[in-house]
Amino acid sequence: MTDAVLDAIRAHEDELIAIRQDIHAHPETGFEEVRTAGIVAAKLREWGVEVHEGLGKTGVIGTIKGSRPGQRAVGLRADMDALHIEEKSDLPYRSQVPGKMHACGHDGHTAMLLGAARYLSEHRDFAGTVHLIFQPAEEGLGGARTMVEEGLFEQFPMDSVYGMHAIPGIPEGDFFICPGPMMAASDSWSVVFRGTGGHGSAPDKGTDPTIPAAQFILGVQTIIGRNVAGLDSAVLSVGHIAAGAWGSPNIIPAEVVMRGTGRSFRPAVRDLLERRMGELAAGIAAACGCTAEFAYKRGTPPTVNWPEQTDLAVEVAGKLVGADKVKGNMTPVMGSEDFAFMLEKKQGSYIFIGNGEGPYVHTPLYNFNDRILATGAAYWVNLAKAELGLGEG
Ligand SMILES: [Zn+2]
Ligand SMILES: [Zn+2]
Repeated sequence: MTDAVLDAIRAHEDELIAIRQDIHAHPETGFEEVRTAGIVAAKLREWGVEVHEGLGKTGVIGTIKGSRPGQRAVGLRADMDALHIEEKSDLPYRSQVPGKMHACGHDGHTAMLLGAARYLSEHRDFAGTVHLIFQPAEEGLGGARTMVEEGLFEQFPMDSVYGMHAIPGIPEGDFFICPGPMMAASDSWSVVFRGTGGHGSAPDKGTDPTIPAAQFILGVQTIIGRNVAGLDSAVLSVGHIAAGAWGSPNIIPAEVVMRGTGRSFRPAVRDLLERRMGELAAGIAAACGCTAEFAYKRGTPPTVNWPEQTDLAVEVAGKLVGADKVKGNMTPVMGSEDFAFMLEKKQGSYIFIGNGEGPYVHTPLYNFNDRILATGAAYWVNLAKAELGLGEG
């Protein structure tokens, strides 16, 4: 396959690789992407892109207007943050910050969108406006939500918004996407079972919260097996349990604290998880003469791709790399992505680009594959141009 945009971007590939590896060596975690945002803003200005800094603390927006008249606008989004992981690689550009690492490829996402920025700024034969959204704090801190709350779509009106993530295990440079829910909602929950506690030798003299806690662990799986419909899917996992003291095995604790995660794809299933967990906690506690304090905290919503924008993404990716390298009906994954906050408010779609074989994201040996930088950048350019078209002129 040859593609004029891809060829043009490949001519500057070395610069993108250098930017990516520099960001990799200097990882910054959520809302602290000061150096990274500085590089983004400086590069955008160098290439003649209008820059807006500080939306969502460290977020950066680059705005490029086409040379043809048009009122439409499209948003392309990359995340910039790293993770709290100690890098174990021996790459020459390995993380120079102890305990922090670009283990999710956001260094590559930033570089890909910069590649698109340079091309679009130098080739403005499109009608309308492209907003390049460099987002902070994707990893659990809600950077996308913060940008939306601070007026992303009001300050930078756009008709649609798109996201992209590099994923190991998908062939290098292939694209995977599906319409509808593609990634799960990620919520957290907690429950505190309380009883009187007492002497381990005399449980009859009080109430024991370890009993409802044990029943609850098994009970929540009946929500998955008995309440969630067979063709729906959801996951409930216990991630933390605390009660009593190591040095006091002969004491029945008065309190058991438990925390965990809840994953789902549909709003109705998400509502069901929250409601049924609360009912089970209260009911089981009451049956044991204890009380339960249950809380369900909604985190990231499901990432739901809009059909029309998903079709466009498939078409653009297919023209770029060949239709046989684009899977338009991938199986959704249970991970979550805070770009979901943008897709809740604005039509658009989110796509995976193959990172090739290698360690998975969020592991100490993961590395973004520089060979897909130009492909990703060209996808962004072609997508923006396909969205905006050439207008009336
Ligand atoms: Zn991640
Ligand atoms: Zn990520």
